[in-house]
Amino acid sequence: MAENTQNAVVLWFRKDLRLDDNHALHEACRSGRPIIPLYISEPDGHGTGPLGAAQSWWLHHSLTALQSSLRSLGSDLVFRTGDAFSVLKGLVGETGVDTVLWNRRYDPVGIPIDHRIKDELSKLGLNISSFAGQLLHEPTRLLTGARTPFRVYTPFWRALENSGEPPEPLKAPLKITSPVSWPKSEELSQWKLLPTKPDWAKSFNEIWTPGETAALLRLEDFIDRALDGYKEGRDFPSKPATSMLSPHLALGEISPARIWHATRGLSHTIPRDDVIHFRKELVWREFSYHLLFHFPGLPYANWNSRFNGFPWRTDCTLFASWTRGQTGYPIVDAGMRQLWKHGWMHNRVRMIVASFLIKDLLIDWRRGEAWFRDTLVDADPASNAASWQWVAGSGADASPFFRIFNPVLQGEKFDPEGRYVREFVPELADLGDRYIHRPFDAPEKVLREAGVILGDTYPQPIVDHAKARSRALQAYSATKDAA
Ligand code: FAD
Repeated sequence: MAENTQNAVVLWFRKDLRLDDNHALHEACRSGRPIIPLYISEPDGHGTGPLGAAQSWWLHHSLTALQSSLRSLGSDLVFRTGDAFSVLKGLVGETGVDTVLWNRRYDPVGIPIDHRIKDELSKLGLNISSFAGQLLHEPTRLLTGARTPFRVYTPFWRALENSGEPPEPLKAPLKITSPVSWPKSEELSQWKLLPTKPDWAKSFNEIWTPGETAALLRLEDFIDRALDGYKEGRDFPSKPATSMLSPHLALGEISPARIWHATRGLSHTIPRDDVIHFRKELVWREFSYHLLFHFPGLPYANWNSRFNGFPWRTDCTLFASWTRGQTGYPIVDAGMRQLWKHGWMHNRVRMIVASFLIKDLLIDWRRGEAWFRDTLVDADPASNAASWQWVAGSGADASPFFRIFNPVLQGEKFDPEGRYVREFVPELADLGDRYIHRPFDAPEKVLREAGVILGDTYPQPIVDHAKARSRALQAYSATKDAA
């Protein structure tokens, strides 16, 4: 056992890859003892279920950034692989530390792992402390008048609004005490989180800089540039009108409390409606975690059991057309290609593509959820599952199933000049505004002049929306009858 690490504390980083507003780190610093920052590559991802490919890319860069920030304060980050309990027990044995600190996670995979570790390590005489920070409020804090979990967003929002401000965010430390000698660490590059052959993530760099510093800059830039007008602008995918903070939040590079407090006191310069609307979106994330915490089956089980007998289709060709952005509906294809190119998709378009998969193609929402989980840099177990169930109509406080988005009308309304489509579906770039969202209605001459050959340079629609809509409604009423 290394004597000089004996009085150190282990600080286990998980979904809190930041120094700012980090309660476990703050407590570790306050103890005045040397700190061993640790990140564990857990067999099931990072303790929240399998890690998707796009988020693995993000994680690599985020850990690199965190290690570099820690080094700049005189510390470092130790990397280890294995199930978290064995890794921690091994590290405790090697170093003689008696204290392990972490910030809590609230998903059904991570919670039991953490409970077990807390129990087992406490039995061995260790001090284990966990702290809040992934959410604005602990998921057990806000309950209905009957002391039950909320199932509807608006009363949840009201309860949150009336429950007082989330705690003031803590500042990042200026210095972190190191142990005299460091325990062994793996090399991050050994984890092979980055794609190589082919490097499908090469265009991610065009828009993303993972890490805490970039997250804080993005927040500042969003408040300066786009918060004013957010309520209206946020629905138009060609406008840079949303914060794009989601991947930073997903791995905890920024805390929701930091974001919340940054929007305080702005109402004298920015319309109150915009500020409130932005906060309400942040609270959708909170609500999703509330649902996931209280209903852990959310990622795989229909919230509304009426959907259990839904006649989903399993057509692999249609599913592949959807994933590749080859459906013949330009707004759907633009969204799916944005996802492929940047690992992210605008919220309005996420709703459109999800509605298309579930209702036009009658493919189970769980297949869409899994595809998003693998391809989104912001993949989040709570927001992804809750949103897919919301679109499907099977979720809590969901959009009703019979609300079926018309992909042409959605495109015309929210991308009226076709800028978004032209960016991600370049083969339609020369088609005029009139037909940009409905190339299949364009006269032959118009298509020829735009260099579009349907079925060759761009697909024919894979389904007829009007027919698909009636088929979906029929399937839904059959399910209702069966319930
Ligand atoms: P902003 O508009 O700037 O909002 C600020 C923050 O609020 C976001 O970063 C996000 O944390 C939160 N937020 C906004 N809208 C929602 C919402 N509807 N539900 C939950 N939180 C929200 N979001 C994820 O973070 N991860 C996912 O895996 C995810 N999957 C989704 C799947 C579907 C089918 C749909 C319809 C939505 C999904 N969302 C998911 C929600 C939403 O699309 C993204 O949070 C949002 O587009 C992120 O962009 P932004 O940061 O610019 O958002």
